[in-house]
Amino acid sequence: MTVRVRFAPSPTGMFHVGGARSALQNWIFAKQQGGVFVLRIEDTDAARNKPEWTEGILSALDWIGIARGSYEGPYFQSSYAGEHRAAAQRLYEGGRAYYCDCTREDVQARTGPQQRGYDGFCRDRGLEPGEGRALRFRTPDEGETVVVDLVRGEPTFENKLIEDFVIARGDGSPVFLLANVVDDMSMGITHVIRAEEHLPNTPKQQLLWDALGVKPPIWAHVPVVVNEKRQKLSKRRDKVALEAYRDEGYLADAMRNYLMLLGWAPSGDREIVPWSVIEEEFRLDEVNPSPAFFDEKKLRAFNGDYIRALPVEEFVAACRPWLTGTETIAPPPWQPDEFDPAAFAAVAPLAQTRIAVLSEIVPNVDFLFLADPLIDEAAWAKAMKEGAADLLDAAIVAFEALESWDAESLKATLEAVGAERGLKLGKAQAPVRVAVTGRTVGLPLFESLEVLGRDRTLTRLRAARVRLV
Ligand code: GLU
Repeated sequence: MTVRVRFAPSPTGMFHVGGARSALQNWIFAKQQGGVFVLRIEDTDAARNKPEWTEGILSALDWIGIARGSYEGPYFQSSYAGEHRAAAQRLYEGGRAYYCDCTREDVQARTGPQQRGYDGFCRDRGLEPGEGRALRFRTPDEGETVVVDLVRGEPTFENKLIEDFVIARGDGSPVFLLANVVDDMSMGITHVIRAEEHLPNTPKQQLLWDALGVKPPIWAHVPVVVNEKRQKLSKRRDKVALEAYRDEGYLADAMRNYLMLLGWAPSGDREIVPWSVIEEEFRLDEVNPSPAFFDEKKLRAFNGDYIRALPVEEFVAACRPWLTGTETIAPPPWQPDEFDPAAFAAVAPLAQTRIAVLSEIVPNVDFLFLADPLIDEAAWAKAMKEGAADLLDAAIVAFEALESWDAESLKATLEAVGAERGLKLGKAQAPVRVAVTGRTVGLPLFESLEVLGRDRTLTRLRAARVRLV
């Protein structure tokens, strides 16, 4: 039997990192089993779906390595409405479902507000189909439903505790529970790997598989992803969109490796391993079923490690979207013709060891491409204290006299200027750095000055000196 898995997102918003995690797990599982990965867009909620969200899913999957054309689909659930209705009809005709005209108020009036779920009032009323009548599944009164779950063992549900749930609404439209099962069935899905949030649906869905006469799939409910307060990651509260991480400058390799560490780890106490190792070692039955903490700080550090590991030419290429701007990444503060690729290449290795996300490249190098540095006023106030004017005067004179404009000579010169004033190099650097780059922190100063060049450096030092008068 060929293994067939599917990733079945609903295109109702930005693509969630938890979704990306499930997609990757499906992807790897299919690959390991020599199986097929199917992408199904569950777009039946017409009010909430937008085509751009679907495009966002496809491009986000592409970004993390699940490339268009390398999987089956995308299929669109809305195209199978006929099959969903036919399945509902079959269940009705087979006596496995019945029509119900109770309103929520009716049910509550009978059961009291505390009681949850449907009380089975219409079970044996023999109502015909009709406008406003929902179709409910006749849940078995006895027995239990045992779900075979690769992550959770065999969660077992007593059938008598499962209400007669709705499978088609009063307007005849099948609900998610049923559509999802019918599609999995017709697409020959053998393993359903999805988030834990769906586990409460699973016994109901498995009953539908049974009632429709098809062997249910093997399930794997992977842990819910939570924030530092152990709350489920929510798009209203947390940064959850994969695209937001991409546009901030997380590397796809770092991101997908990190996502796979949510609830699982490769052998040997390692976290950063080649993707091929993850593809080889990942096992669903090793996934920890408890909630998985999405630790953005750790991800940042992780990303920094990946950035540092890039060959420098790849780092330069990876920075490009932030140096030019794209459809989704804001343009840098300089004009395109102000950018100097040679100057960038000269400082790139220095920046590579200092940034954790690629977007941080911009504030580190903008001083090279802007006619005037962007002065951070707080940095200015901090650096331009008493003695700064005198120090700048002396630095200007000493730099003007330099024969060779290189980092080493610049450093020796400023060191001497500082020493004459009883200042350590760090203190002597501060006003120079702010005058030239606008900031108190950044790339190593003397290499920066070397690349910026004599004329521009001196012009900026003089301009700062004028401001101090
Ligand atoms: N469309 C569902 C969702 O996005 C997926 C259901 C499933 O994976 O079975 O949550």
